[in-house]
Amino acid sequence: MNKPFLELDGAIGGGQILRSALSLSMVSGRAFRIRNIRARRSRPGLLRQHLTAVLAAAEVCAARTDGAELGSQTLSFIPGSIRAGDYRFAIGSAGSCTLVMQTLLPALLVAPGPSSLRITGGTHNPLAPPADFLQRAWLPLLRRMGVGVELELLRHGFMPAGGGELLARVVPGELRPLHLPAPGTRLSQEARSLLSGVPGHVGQRELQRVARRLGWAQECLKVDAIPTDQGPGNALLLEITCERVTEMFCAFGQPRISSERVADQAIDLARTWLDSGAATSEHLADQLLLPMALAGGGSFSTCTLSDHLTSNIEVIQRFLPVRCQVQSRRQDFHDVVITAL
Ligand code: ATP
Repeated sequence: MNKPFLELDGAIGGGQILRSALSLSMVSGRAFRIRNIRARRSRPGLLRQHLTAVLAAAEVCAARTDGAELGSQTLSFIPGSIRAGDYRFAIGSAGSCTLVMQTLLPALLVAPGPSSLRITGGTHNPLAPPADFLQRAWLPLLRRMGVGVELELLRHGFMPAGGGELLARVVPGELRPLHLPAPGTRLSQEARSLLSGVPGHVGQRELQRVARRLGWAQECLKVDAIPTDQGPGNALLLEITCERVTEMFCAFGQPRISSERVADQAIDLARTWLDSGAATSEHLADQLLLPMALAGGGSFSTCTLSDHLTSNIEVIQRFLPVRCQVQSRRQDFHDVVITAL
C-alpha cells in the first residue's frame, strides 16, 4: 500500500529543511515529498553534501527514493525500517560531514542496536558546524538528554580540499526533555587557532585580537598545528564553558582577509551571546530544536531568532505532534518552548 506523502516546500529555507525532513521521516516512518529544494540558493537543488545525506538516510532506513540526483530540486522519500550497522559514507567533496552526521543521528538513536558512522568530506566548513562544535557544545547537551554518542575527529578537512574524516559511535537511547533557561555562571574560556599549511603568525594575530578585545589571558590562547597534509586551512574557535552550556564561535581564515578581521567575526558573535544572557546562540538554537522535539519537550533561550530556527520549527511541526513556541523578551533574548500536543 502507498503511504500518503507529506508535502514540503523547500523554498522556505536551505539544506536544513531537507536534512530535518530526512531525520524526521526516518524516525516517524512518514514519507515526504519536497519541492523547490534550496530554490533560493545560487546553486539550487541537491549539492554533494545534501545528496550524501539523502543516500545515507535511505541506506540506514531502507528507504525508496525518487529524485536523489545531483542538482535535483524535488525528492520523494519513503522510509522503511531503521537498521543498526557500521556505516561509511563519502561526500566526495569538501561538503560538511557534520551536517550528514546530524541527519542520521536521530535514526541511529532508535535503531535496534549500536552503530558506527564514518563520514569523509569537510569537517571545518564555513556555514556548517565544525566538528569541535558538535564535540564540545552540541553533543554534551544530547548526553544530558540521555543518549550515548561519541564523536572522534580522525582527520581535519577544510574547504576547498575536504578529505576530513569523522567517526561517530551511537548507542540507542531515549531522549529526555532538557530545559536551558540560562547558561549559568561562566567557568572557563579558550581560543584555539587551527593552522594547517598556514603561517604561524596568522594564528598569533588572531589570538592577540581575542586577548585585546575579549580580555582573555594568554593561558587561554592556543595555536593548534595540524599536519599540513590535512590543509591548507585556518579556523579560529572560541569556546566558552558555562555551568549549563558550552558555546563555540568560529571564523575561517580566507585569502585577502586580515587575521584581525577573521578574529573579529568570531569575537562579535561571542560578544552578542555573552551580552544577551541567553542560554544559546544562533546555531546551537536551531540544532537543539529537533532533539528536543523528539524528546517530546524542552526549552531554551537564544540571542538570535534566525531563519534556520523558524523554518526548522515549521518542518518539525509538520512531522511530529509537538508545538514550538517562541516568545521574544528583547531583540537579543527569545524563549523557545517545545511541548508535546
Ligand atoms: P544551504 O547551502 O542551502 O544554506 P546547507 O545545507 O549548507 O544549505 P543550512 O541549511 O544553511 O545548510 O544549515 C546549516 C546548519 O549549520 C545550520 O544548522 C546552522 O546552525 C549550522 N551552522 C552554520 N554555521 C555554524 C557555526 N559556525 N557553528 C555551528 N553551527 C553552524
